[in-house]
Amino acid sequence: MRWGEMRRSDNVEDRSGMRPRGGLGGGGMKIGLGGIILALIASVLFGINPFSLLGSMSAPEPAPQVAPPAGASPAGTGRAAPSADPTKEMVARVLGDTEDVWNALLKAMGAQGYPKPDLVIFEGQVRSACGFASAAVGPFYCPGDAKLYLDTAFFDQLSRKFGAPGDFAQAYVVAHEVGHHVQNVLGTMQQFDRLLQRVGPAERNALQVRLELQADCYAGVWGHFAAKRNLLEQGDLEEGMRAAQAVGDDQIMRRTQGYVVPDAFTHGSAQQRMYWFRRGLETGDPRRCDTFTETQP
Ligand SMILES: [Zn+2]
Repeated sequence: MRWGEMRRSDNVEDRSGMRPRGGLGGGGMKIGLGGIILALIASVLFGINPFSLLGSMSAPEPAPQVAPPAGASPAGTGRAAPSADPTKEMVARVLGDTEDVWNALLKAMGAQGYPKPDLVIFEGQVRSACGFASAAVGPFYCPGDAKLYLDTAFFDQLSRKFGAPGDFAQAYVVAHEVGHHVQNVLGTMQQFDRLLQRVGPAERNALQVRLELQADCYAGVWGHFAAKRNLLEQGDLEEGMRAAQAVGDDQIMRRTQGYVVPDAFTHGSAQQRMYWFRRGLETGDPRRCDTFTETQP
């Protein structure tokens, strides 16, 4: 991937090397994985999200405001400076490229523009509006503060434990989390919350899977435009597909050690994840990502 040719985002907040404030140290503040997942789910269930109809993307509403307002980040968080760490630099440039692509797409769909999310790079543990999270939950998006959270050590796990190395595999992870932000902006998450409250536990998982598969499709949509501008190299698409396969629920369950599923559970099977990622890659059309009404493969 020719990420060096992508525009660096100004919205990266590097908190690596910083200890989250407010912890008690020691074991007192440790929240088990179940607690973290509950916190993230709760944020999806009760998050402050705009509302619009699922699958109504052909007529999107004006992009709603997403909390918090831009520029509200704390001082001294080292944002926007070029990083000496190539992985962080790549992440910042992929994020910048997703901003450009989604801004153009949303405008083409009639929205006023794209409210850019912040991406927080952390090490080990982090405090978000969705609670206190450890890197063990994997990368995640918090709708409550409209930020993506990423410990870049996850990429080593993706490469070694999940067998999905390569920069485009990593870009897929970033673009998937960006896909959740797009869902927040378009109001899909709010609709999702309402639906969740109306269905039983079994259907909840199925709904969650549809939300995740749509984020995969949106990741593919970004990849489509990266390819179109000749920013991908030979082997990149295979890297991305391998990553989508590797983080399928069924694959994850075979590797119960170490990192768990990025950003929550019930993300769909390897086959489903590859199917929807490819759908986005091939069409470049977010309207073709209606995982909520289309039958799953
Ligand atoms: Zn996800």
